[in-house]
Amino acid sequence: GRTPLIAGNWKMNLDHLQAVAFVQKLHWTLKDAKHEDGSVEVAVFPPFTDLRTVQTLLDADKIPFALGAQDLSAHDSGAYTGEISGAFLAKLDAKYVIIGHSERRQYHEETDEIVGSKVKAALKHGLVPVICVGETSEDLEKFGASAVPVSQLSVALEGLKADADIVVAYEPVWAIGSGQAATPEQAQDVCAKLREVIGEKLGADAAARTRVLYGGSVKSANIASFMREPDVDGALVGGASLVVDEFAAIIRYQK
Ligand code: 13P
Repeated sequence: GRTPLIAGNWKMNLDHLQAVAFVQKLHWTLKDAKHEDGSVEVAVFPPFTDLRTVQTLLDADKIPFALGAQDLSAHDSGAYTGEISGAFLAKLDAKYVIIGHSERRQYHEETDEIVGSKVKAALKHGLVPVICVGETSEDLEKFGASAVPVSQLSVALEGLKADADIVVAYEPVWAIGSGQAATPEQAQDVCAKLREVIGEKLGADAAARTRVLYGGSVKSANIASFMREPDVDGALVGGASLVVDEFAAIIRYQK
């Protein structure tokens, strides 16, 4: 089966000093929780400037959280001022990298093609891309829920090998930071369709193995309802991942 993944996308929150306090507190709050025995994987996605500090803390205190970055460059190195190479992230023991978050698509004009090249860059450097897709409320009205995320994922998976290690996150843009989460049925419907895309592009093994997450106003009060859906394998959590007790309660969800 697929190990559920609970991922905290901090976005542009918590500097490296605040990150240390937060991760330590979260770890202590979670003592004896199920992530300790590997039945749930927990990952945190701090800002770039926190990564080295958080890596050192996770390593020194043997804290079982995976580390991820929120973006990477499509390039390996060179004259790209302000960009961060996947090679640098891999050296920091980052396991994951979020690619194509709706905030990058919206504020940084990231196209499906750019997302596709970043996915390839991540895989080249041994990182697991967390590929984000989702429809805006306009898309939802015009095309329904699944058309845009399905087409975004199709482009992102173009040219990948069948054994590519990826995670997909369905984040309806209208549900992000709005307090208005999708219903579990809506999330299941789109996540199942995204799994079909993985099957078409990468084959049945990849479809069975790849985790598809839901994101958008996930909190402790609704996480279980999402996790009960067969094609939802975890959550990408924004706001609620910044509150220790709330994120710990999400990780401790009971189906
Ligand atoms: P919220 O959980 O704050 O809605 O954000 C979701 C998100 O964008 C995670 O990547």
